[in-house]
Amino acid sequence: MVAKAIGCSLSYARRFSYSNERGAFQKEWSKSTQNEKVSPGARTKIINRDGKTCLRCGLGDERELEVHHILPVSQGGTNEDSNLATLCSHCHEAAHDGSKTSGKTAYVEGNFYEWTQKAEIAPEERDLPLDTGQKRISDY
Ligand SMILES: [Zn+2]
Repeated sequence: MVAKAIGCSLSYARRFSYSNERGAFQKEWSKSTQNEKVSPGARTKIINRDGKTCLRCGLGDERELEVHHILPVSQGGTNEDSNLATLCSHCHEAAHDGSKTSGKTAYVEGNFYEWTQKAEIAPEERDLPLDTGQKRISDY
């Protein structure tokens, strides 16, 4: 009788402390990522604005496309449209100097669009033909 009562209260205590820790963890998580997060609506908007292609290599596979912060959030970048650009997963990584979580960028601040044009990617790696209306690598 007594043992049973203790067992119950122990398991209750454990459950309580578990949910407490979990709540604290979730609060911490959303705090650290709230600025990094681009809402699904904003993502679609930016990808549509950029013609559903990677701005760097021209890849047009929507499943591979990601929204990149031109000025990283860690450096004060915002979720304004002007700070967001469409890149494929591969180029997104390249934009961050190899690691999307590094907070670094492979280009000098403000030179993002120039960087996308300068990218050394062989034409055969491009899914789409070069848009003749766009500046070519040789223009720089
Ligand atoms: Zn790309």
